[in-house]
Amino acid sequence: MTSKVVVIGAGLGGLAASALLARQGHEVTLLEGQDWVGGKSRRIELDGQRIDTGPSLVTFPHVWQKVLATYDALGSGGEGAAEIAGVTLERLPEVGRYYFRGQQANLPVELGHPWYEPWQRFEAEHGTLGPAITHLLTADPWDKGILPALGRLLSRYGTRLTTAAFLDGLDWMPQDLKDVIAIHTLNAGVAPEQTLALYASMAAVMATDGVWVPRGGVYEIAAGLEKLAIHAGVEIHTSEPVISVKPREVTTARATYRGDYVVSALDGGILESLMGRPARKPPARLSCSGIAIFGVLDRELPSEVVTHSVMMPRDPGALFGALGKRIMPDETMAFLNYYRAGEIYPNKKPVAALLLTAPPNGASAEITDPFVVAESERFSDLLGLEQPITEMMSQHKILDPEYFASFGAVGGALYGEPAPWWRSGPFHSPAYNSVRTPWLWRVGSSVHPGGGIPAVLGGVLISMRRMLARMS
Ligand SMILES: Cc1cc2nc3c(=O)[nH]c(=O)nc-3n(C[C@H](O)[C@H](O)[C@H](O)COP(=O)(O)OP(=O)(O)OC[C@H]3O[C@@H](n4cnc5c(N)ncnc54)[C@H](O)[C@@H]3O)c2cc1C
Repeated sequence: MTSKVVVIGAGLGGLAASALLARQGHEVTLLEGQDWVGGKSRRIELDGQRIDTGPSLVTFPHVWQKVLATYDALGSGGEGAAEIAGVTLERLPEVGRYYFRGQQANLPVELGHPWYEPWQRFEAEHGTLGPAITHLLTADPWDKGILPALGRLLSRYGTRLTTAAFLDGLDWMPQDLKDVIAIHTLNAGVAPEQTLALYASMAAVMATDGVWVPRGGVYEIAAGLEKLAIHAGVEIHTSEPVISVKPREVTTARATYRGDYVVSALDGGILESLMGRPARKPPARLSCSGIAIFGVLDRELPSEVVTHSVMMPRDPGALFGALGKRIMPDETMAFLNYYRAGEIYPNKKPVAALLLTAPPNGASAEITDPFVVAESERFSDLLGLEQPITEMMSQHKILDPEYFASFGAVGGALYGEPAPWWRSGPFHSPAYNSVRTPWLWRVGSSVHPGGGIPAVLGGVLISMRRMLARMS
């Protein structure tokens, strides 16, 4: 039986959900408020050069492969999903180069470095967990089949179930290496005390399984999902913000769309207000926000600068404290993603993205703000550049907490309100669907918090599998 489905929000979550539903033969309309699809993943052009903003790296690439395989399994005939989407993932030579308290180290740590041996031991114990984590990201948490994967993880952590508690117990590991591993919890926007021990394993899994970028830029993931959706027959409407959601009925300024089901890929708070529910109290805790500066460089950087560099604050505890209080830290954790001309993007000039972790205060930022200038100088000194990187940008675009707040999360928190660690990942609240609103399903980072693209796409697979089973 064919059902009519209205999907709200064409971020990665909404695009993937629409594509799978339409591939099964349902009649899907996807409504997006902005004039682009991809949501936080967006493609811009500066000085004729391509730059993708928002996410920059793809981890757990098998989650993407599972999305493609599910699309293929839901329909038959014609080209395969991989050909339609046309995404080619390229592995970066390293996870990144980390700068911390006067030391620098690549991950994986290279032979001869003082951290080499503890890193080898850590990677041997944790680097092989990728398939188990991928399984947990994509399989239904109530499926008995997840037990072996869960068992593999729990056997690593024992009773030390948060990142902080787990790393504290590794008395053979130097404290500075622990801090470098722990900083990866900012991928979930929160401190090591607030995340599952699983996050401690991330750096090792990334070193073993790789960190990837699609050839052409990370926006190829959004563009590939859009192609899959269009190929399956999804009707996509951009520049059409939804203004109200009622049972089986979604209204925009242009029209009212009726469907047997509604799928929301929106931030949870936005959906509640569109449904006319009273505004919730602002959350007491929020994940971090960011100030991201994307620019075209007037020259290439020295050959020793790698694609992905990470600058740590001297005192990570002070950074997590400031983020929790929503005040500017003295020093932050920052990434520099650098692509030489012709590398990843089809560009004639080098481009860079400087991403500064910032508190979720909803504030606007300029490239001349003292915090931005100071951190750009600190990072550029560490990299041995002759000039601050922001001064080498002939053109730039800055995205700040105010911009990220426009996606709905209070203060521009990149991952919204953090769930308590024991409700991370698939054990989230709100659920994908509830008995009170059987017509409404949810996908996206607000129901699968704390993990970026793999969590969003894995969450779509779980939610849509359940929804399709219910529909049939
Ligand atoms: C700076 C930054 C860096 C990141 N880096 C990484 C990374 O390196 N790797 C990684 O894996 N992840 C990363 N992430 C996370 C990743 O980008 C997100 O997890 C993912 O893009 C979220 O997708 P989503 O579909 O859940 O939400 P969104 O992208 O927020 O999509 C929601 C959509 O709903 C639309 N919408 C909102 N209100 C309405 C309305 N009323 N009507 C219609 N449409 C509406 C929005 O316009 C948007 O398109 C990063 C995120 C940011 C911001």
